[in-house]
Amino acid sequence: MDLDFWWLLAIPVAFALGWMAARYDLKTLLSESANLPRSYFRGLNFLLNEQPDQAIDAFIEVVKLDPETIELHFALGNLFRRRGETERAIRVHQNLLSRADLPVTERDHALFELGQDFLKAGLLDRAEETFRSLKSGDYAMGAQRALLTIYGIEKDWNKSIDTARQLETMGSEPLEKEVAQFHCELAQEALQQQDAEEARRQLGLALKANPQSVRATILSGDVDAAGGAQEAAIAQWLHVEAQNPAYLPLVAEKLLKAYQALGRGEEGADLMATWIDRYPSNDLLDAAYQHVAALRGPEAAHALARAQMQKSPNLAGMTRLLEAQQSTAEEPRRSELELMRTLIRQRTKNLPRYTCQNCGFRARLFYWQCPGCSGWETYAPRRVEPITAPN
Ligand SMILES: [Zn+2]
Repeated sequence: MDLDFWWLLAIPVAFALGWMAARYDLKTLLSESANLPRSYFRGLNFLLNEQPDQAIDAFIEVVKLDPETIELHFALGNLFRRRGETERAIRVHQNLLSRADLPVTERDHALFELGQDFLKAGLLDRAEETFRSLKSGDYAMGAQRALLTIYGIEKDWNKSIDTARQLETMGSEPLEKEVAQFHCELAQEALQQQDAEEARRQLGLALKANPQSVRATILSGDVDAAGGAQEAAIAQWLHVEAQNPAYLPLVAEKLLKAYQALGRGEEGADLMATWIDRYPSNDLLDAAYQHVAALRGPEAAHALARAQMQKSPNLAGMTRLLEAQQSTAEEPRRSELELMRTLIRQRTKNLPRYTCQNCGFRARLFYWQCPGCSGWETYAPRRVEPITAPN
């Protein structure tokens, strides 16, 4: 009985509490809107009418009148930057920074946003200067990351290395993979300038940062080959199999060339047959096909294409197989095969692509750094065909 009585009493009490809460909320809201200056509503109106210039002017007035609207500035600045209107974003953030009474944290935040505006506008010098001024505080690490992006765009690999190391001391995730890539970039530059000694020094540093760096191993072989040491180059490139066999297609052609230069083409052909058996891949087949055909005749090349297709059937492999069949067929079958091959080839010519695992960017060439998202080693080193062909 007692329980029923309490329930009866609880219902009107709950109603009363709800009514009071609603009244309180309404009152607070009304008093807050009354505190907002008229310019705020004017700005909002301009923004809604897609007159962003007038909106900014109105909002700037709000900030002058009411120091509590710093967040509004950040929201506006971000909005403009996202829309690609970097000049307006820069103006908003610079206006904020011109205030003498801006608290330090807000000043750092505004500088960080301004740096991003400059970066988006392609004003790399001014972006760099802005981010460099953020040496400590909550935005220091974000600023270092942005600097790493800028030095990457400028291809300033020495500064990239320093910045990555700096980030690691600030407690970022390990960046050995990136540091090794920066040293590889420097090695490649040295190789282009025929400075083998500097190239080797950089490659040593790359492998010290990341002993698993396949690129450093490949480049070490390139340095040897450029100096005429084919035997040493072969040893380097063969080492890729132990590091990561997925990258073998990147060294297949180099290896075949080196074996041929040493008069050991047969050894190269054997190696390709073993690799295609172990790691079936169209890219390996592409590298090996002509070499094997020239060395051992069309039947041997045909066997290679057949082995590849049995292990991993796909359209690119199919065109190779038809090509192989065609080379040993008689007329009129030969012309039929030619027709089939041409048709499939036309349809699939641009299908196999390297695909970035990070952003999905597809490319005909292999990149160590993705042109889409700037990530390092985000491309799987094999070309793949999409499941559905484009029309
Ligand atoms: Zn990407």
